[in-house]
Amino acid sequence: MNDCLFCKIVAKEIPAEIVYETGRTLAFRDTNPQAPTHVLVITKGHYANAAALADADDGLADDVLKAAHAVAVKEQVAEGGYRVVFNTGPAAGQTVFHVHAHVLGGRALTWPPG
Ligand code: AMP
Ligand code: ZN
Repeated sequence: MNDCLFCKIVAKEIPAEIVYETGRTLAFRDTNPQAPTHVLVITKGHYANAAALADADDGLADDVLKAAHAVAVKEQVAEGGYRVVFNTGPAAGQTVFHVHAHVLGGRALTWPPG
């Protein structure tokens, strides 16, 4: 997608601090972190959100979850606990319409989220 911010990160047209990469996923630090660890895991291909990714039904959602866990291990938050969030649609606060899992950890996280 020509106009998509995260497609541009995949294409290396926009810089990002990449922390983990697989054949079909990319993980990089959020530029406005909400926790000591705040990493976004995206698919290299464009899907608007988690719903579109689920519809694709090709195992890619599985890859994203595995990548999120790998990031948590690498960031040393897996043992203490971490959160994986997909904001899906405007009412959930989604602002970038390329699917991304927020991986948050490194502090006590409140529940429920706002
Ligand atoms: P969401 O509101 O769930 O769509 O999340 C979008 C996230 O992308 C926000 O947490 C932003 O801080 C983050 N973000 C926006 N632009 C960039 C960028 N260029 N590099 C890394 N993270 C970004
Ligand atoms: Zn995209």
